[in-house]
Amino acid sequence: MRYVSTRGGAPELSFSDTVLAGLAIDGGLYVPQSWPQLSADLPNDYASLATAVIAPYAAPDINSTTLLGLSRAAYSSFRHEEVVPLVSLEDGHHLMELFHGPTLAFKDVALQLLGQLFDHILSAKNERVRIVGATSGDTGSAAIDGVKHCSNVDIVILYPNGRVSEVQRRQMTTVDSPNVHTIAVDGTFDDCQDLVKAMFNDMPFRERHNLSAVNSINWARIVAQVVYYVEAAHRIGRTIDVTVPTGNFGNVLSGWIAKQMGADIRHLVVASNSNDILTRFFESRDMAVTGVEPTLSPSMDIQVSSNFERLLFEMNDRDGGVTAQQLSRFRSTGHLVLEPDQFSTWIAPTFRAGRCDDDQTLRTIRSVHESTGMLIDPHTAVGVSVARQWSETGVPMVTMATAHPAKFPDAVERATGVRPKLPEHLADLMTLPERTKALPNDLSTVQSYIDSL
Ligand SMILES: *Cc1c(COP(=O)(O)O)cnc(C)c1O
Repeated sequence: MRYVSTRGGAPELSFSDTVLAGLAIDGGLYVPQSWPQLSADLPNDYASLATAVIAPYAAPDINSTTLLGLSRAAYSSFRHEEVVPLVSLEDGHHLMELFHGPTLAFKDVALQLLGQLFDHILSAKNERVRIVGATSGDTGSAAIDGVKHCSNVDIVILYPNGRVSEVQRRQMTTVDSPNVHTIAVDGTFDDCQDLVKAMFNDMPFRERHNLSAVNSINWARIVAQVVYYVEAAHRIGRTIDVTVPTGNFGNVLSGWIAKQMGADIRHLVVASNSNDILTRFFESRDMAVTGVEPTLSPSMDIQVSSNFERLLFEMNDRDGGVTAQQLSRFRSTGHLVLEPDQFSTWIAPTFRAGRCDDDQTLRTIRSVHESTGMLIDPHTAVGVSVARQWSETGVPMVTMATAHPAKFPDAVERATGVRPKLPEHLADLMTLPERTKALPNDLSTVQSYIDSL
């Protein structure tokens, strides 16, 4: 399998090089040349299914036997034997629980495997990388956990001091591995992101550290997420609809890829909180940028959904030049308008969308608790609320449950009066010693510190 950039101006790469590259040098995102088809008989255990789904994308760089070993290692860190169990919520409506990984959010599904892939690819090449990233909470802890045992990777995560939750901070700062470093920046998440961008643009610094990124545009993350959509359709055994709480469009894009590969999925329902650029787009064909407001589901508080570019490339019949022009117009005007035929071919048959504000999020957490006794997190609640808007009798609905309720205990307690407990394996999180470095929002100070590591 070869990989091409969505902007048409970067060399084709193999799987391994695509995983290490992250972003293409023309600023585009890598996509595979074609969509392999699923075989008719799929294995039942999760690591084997992951191998069956991912192997055609990883060939010829990584063979199936190796991939199975990496998948087993990645998913042995999950606390549920089914890895991503499917549970019944109400008549015809299931939750797929994606939060049984080490940091309690769905990002573990991709980042546990990404850590294994990085270590395998780098040791074969006899190389090391230093991952530098910024986080507003969930990604940083999942990335740290994914690479904490890697011998060829070290990781530096910048987070805004005092602006991530205590659980999120401790999940990063209590990891006792010599290759893990965190920096508490005196600033906002955007300041952290700007520092990271500046370090990637500083070529001598970038080369000195062999910098690498694991953000949500990395192809390995997208392909790892395809597996649980295949699993959901396979396990239910008939055509399903799926609702996905959405931010950067990475998770729902993985669902679209599963459908391209032949998974029996009818509609993909995009669920937004009040930062609803995608829902407005699906309603009007016009993607229009506005500001971001903080909500109870912070991991979905985004302005622009970066992974949408991969779908746009398909809608332009895989013409990277046209895609690049459209995106540059979008950056300068704040609008991206689809042609009617692009909309009717690519969007209307598959995508549905809906929004759910904070009040509705709290009401949904409460109603689920009253009717089932279950506690759901605010991101999952956005999904459940929108899924109920689009459910149709006769077609099972699966909502992707993206975080454990104990990761967002304040919202859950506000809605239900019950404070969700951390699972057993994290019981000591609140007492373990923390290790972090507080630094000012200043590029040269941060770079000198990273040089000193
Ligand atoms: C990251 C995240 C999302 C959004 O996922 P995208 O792939 O960015 O659409 C939703 N819920 C939770 C809990 C997350 O951590």
